[in-house]
Amino acid sequence: MRSLAVIGRVLEKFDERGRPVWHEGMLVEDGVVSYLGPEPESRASRGVDVIRVETGVVLPGFTDSHAHVAHLGLSLDMLDLRNVNSIEELKRLVSAKAKELGPGRWILGRGWDQELFKEGRWPNRHDLDEAAPRNPVLLVRVCGHAAVANTLALSLTGIDDSTPDPPGGLIEKREGKITGVLKEAAVGLISSFVRREGLEKHVVKAQEALLSSGVTCVHAMSVDERELEALSKLASEGKLRVRIRSYIDFSVPQFDFIKTGFLNIVGLKVFVDGSFGARTASLREPYADDPSTNGILLMSSNEIAKALLLAEKLGLQLAVHAIGDKALEEVVSAAKSSKGGVRVEHASLAPPDLIEELSELSLPVSTQPRFVLSDWWIVSRLGRERTRWAYPFKSFLTHAIPVSFSSDAPVEPCNPWEGVYAAVTRGRWEGLEIARITSSEVLSVEEAIRCYTETGPKILGENLGKLSVGCPADFVIVDRDPFKVPERELRNVRVLATYVEGVEVYRTQGSHLHP
Ligand SMILES: [Zn+2]
Repeated sequence: MRSLAVIGRVLEKFDERGRPVWHEGMLVEDGVVSYLGPEPESRASRGVDVIRVETGVVLPGFTDSHAHVAHLGLSLDMLDLRNVNSIEELKRLVSAKAKELGPGRWILGRGWDQELFKEGRWPNRHDLDEAAPRNPVLLVRVCGHAAVANTLALSLTGIDDSTPDPPGGLIEKREGKITGVLKEAAVGLISSFVRREGLEKHVVKAQEALLSSGVTCVHAMSVDERELEALSKLASEGKLRVRIRSYIDFSVPQFDFIKTGFLNIVGLKVFVDGSFGARTASLREPYADDPSTNGILLMSSNEIAKALLLAEKLGLQLAVHAIGDKALEEVVSAAKSSKGGVRVEHASLAPPDLIEELSELSLPVSTQPRFVLSDWWIVSRLGRERTRWAYPFKSFLTHAIPVSFSSDAPVEPCNPWEGVYAAVTRGRWEGLEIARITSSEVLSVEEAIRCYTETGPKILGENLGKLSVGCPADFVIVDRDPFKVPERELRNVRVLATYVEGVEVYRTQGSHLHP
């Protein structure tokens, strides 16, 4: 294998004080960084390819520490319902899709948010029946924790007025009649029914999207049997280019352990609550805009502790989805009685007492900065006072809590620069109220990039996320220096090329990197 010399500004890592450590070049031999400094080409022990990076910089590959890989691929084929601002528009999109597909085929969509609808209500099955009476339709809310289906989809899956709520889920009924709205585990009644053939194709599609965004490692959440099968097949055929660290859905009864450089089973995943958007995140105090509910708590601390014990026995981590403060409290109390191996997914609302506890237990947190922009209604959900502790990234860092950033794709786009932008600006440029209420929680660009590169691998004890000598050469070349651009430009940073173990796995069209 030829060596690879990269001439240009290379970010090796961040020092103890969080300052970037730069070099003038890097040599890669056998997929590993072997030298950092000027004239790397002269240090090569064999034939060497040379890349000159003139305008941009070289950064360690990003780790997206919480994404849904197969769903990301699937979502790229779905109706994109983000920013749809009325039920009428939703119906138009569904009806156009029905014409395109012909009768009988499933219409899947994702991303709607009733808060944006000018009708001021949730969509129901009758709306969808009008738009597509002869196609089964399932449209998942932006958060993934609620959905609306039409009558045909409901009857194909055997859901009617007499169907009881599944454990951890809600089939909405009005005067005894199903409305078509499904929440939490009830969404799975239909989505698992929808045939997901060719899942490998979706994984490959997701992989392309990740690599073109500069993500070289992804912590894949809630992997089920079919996704695991697809991932294993691709791994055994040598088709994985992005590193995948899998957290298997807790409901999967049995699976084979896999450990390669590209696919590795590292944990189990459980849900303790839902989302703010669907008012199913579990809160200590009722929702400010609906005092009749505190959300849904799906697991008590005892049940979490039991899951944790099982994960420990298998030598795996337990990734625990907890968005509301009540859910987080349950996780913390379960973690106290264990020897570790817990990581918190989201931790979206973390008041000071829980930040202290997370810090004492050094529980790692995987959180999604882009939620700050998407949850633009958060102040009305939580009220001003509680919003102060929504997405408290800086407080996490000052309390030495390991914070790794992620997208939760397809909930948010998998492009990490969207996350970096959100962490650094917190909705200031969008005029969001949370920007004022939580202005002390903004991160520097250094901190945000560090959370997106270093911490994810650290949680798993992996030698990734930096480009020190001896580390695998997973790196990205971006078109500008993110430490020098105005903050509004952070979301415009473009990836020119991505390398994993020194091998080019993505290159943007028209980029001219070679000598
Ligand atoms: Zn998720």
